[in-house]
Amino acid sequence: MRQSHLFTKTRKSAPKDEVAKNAQLLIRAGYIHKEMAGAYAYLPLGLRTFNNIVSIIREEMDAIGGQELTLTALQNPTLWERSGRWSDEAIDVWFKTTLKDGAEVGLAVTHEEPLTALMTEYIQSYKDLPKYAYQFQTKFRNELRAKSGIMRTREFVMKDLYSFSRDEKEFRTFYEKCAEAYKKIFDRAGIGAQTFRTFASGGSFSKFSDEFQTICDAGEDTIYVHRKKGIAVNKEVYTDEVLAELGIKRDELEEMKAVEVGNIFPLGTRFSDVLGLTYKDEEGKEVPVVMGSYGIGPGRLMGTIVEVLGDEKGLVWPKEVAPYPVHLVSIAGGNKEVTEEADRIYDLLLENGIEALYDDRDARAGEKFADSDLIGIPTRFVVSEKTMAQGAVEAVNRADGVSSLVPESGIVEYLGRSD
Ligand code: ATP
Ligand code: MG
Repeated sequence: MRQSHLFTKTRKSAPKDEVAKNAQLLIRAGYIHKEMAGAYAYLPLGLRTFNNIVSIIREEMDAIGGQELTLTALQNPTLWERSGRWSDEAIDVWFKTTLKDGAEVGLAVTHEEPLTALMTEYIQSYKDLPKYAYQFQTKFRNELRAKSGIMRTREFVMKDLYSFSRDEKEFRTFYEKCAEAYKKIFDRAGIGAQTFRTFASGGSFSKFSDEFQTICDAGEDTIYVHRKKGIAVNKEVYTDEVLAELGIKRDELEEMKAVEVGNIFPLGTRFSDVLGLTYKDEEGKEVPVVMGSYGIGPGRLMGTIVEVLGDEKGLVWPKEVAPYPVHLVSIAGGNKEVTEEADRIYDLLLENGIEALYDDRDARAGEKFADSDLIGIPTRFVVSEKTMAQGAVEAVNRADGVSSLVPESGIVEYLGRSD
């Protein structure tokens, strides 16, 4: 992508009403646009980044047997009345609206009800289980506060997976498998070291659940981290009984601010009971399906990466998440040969299946470097008279600023390295 063609531009400052670091940097770098509080548009650079996060999650969900589908955002109240969750007392963040004929509909806050009801058409026997279904789908929630940029919005995509198992044991096996998959996701997203499986409340569904919490000053949650064991406890269940159950002591824990990037939830038979999702077991007895739900917000994850890794110069993307693997910056200063050389390298990368963001604009070196820092692509290749004289490009690592000369014959290999 030639930067001269990109319709977005970087900006010096973020809107005054934008308080979150993630939104400030993402707006300044041209990744997102604030439509209103709690609603952001994803622009070309932002959408590529978002889609990379979605791809990581999709790969890991497919690897544990997830089958992707898409449910509707419009919700039929009948199903939610059966589970007792249509009322604003049960779910206080509902967006509801009315059809022309006066009938009420809801905008999806989550999807346990419609998926459980749908599954009654396909699950009848123990032979039909277990099954795992997931989606990347838009949720609408009338959140009270929306001051955390893309980490808490009123319209957001959620990856929600639901598990359908024969019994508690089969459910648990998958639950742990999904916890492992989540670990891989957060590692690949570059925040594995800061993210802890956190013992948390199970809300109205079960006694406990597990959250994946990332240490971050902008986080809204307080957790107690056991560094050695690599686990944590949410403040809401921080009691002596829970600590005893986990085999940890108060004085081994550090209190930290954190953001919930994902969670996994035992649902038991809470939804299968009321929506009639049962199966015939091997003895021919009709029994309710045991369920679980597993959420991650790719937008919240993207915002968290910015909060954790972003620095005073701008965004810092891990390799797998970055909108482009390399930012090719030509410092031609009117020298046609430099421009031609940079064009050639851009084409060479493309021929090797590497899509670069190519700063081919006619601008000062200082401006180009500042923009490149702000945009945060992991590797920058600089082409100038100086580098040409050495038959090389200068490779600069965005995360630590370390630079080296890479001979032109070695640039494809350089990008393919695994560190
Ligand atoms: P929170 O306590 O932060 O409101 P939640 O308990 O409501 O989160 P879930 O309903 O379980 O979260 O949603 C699953 C995942 O969806 C969360 O772990 C988070 O990554 C994401 N998510 C939840 N609410 C939002 C939101 N308003 N904006 C963006 N992502 C969200
Ligand atoms: Mg919430």
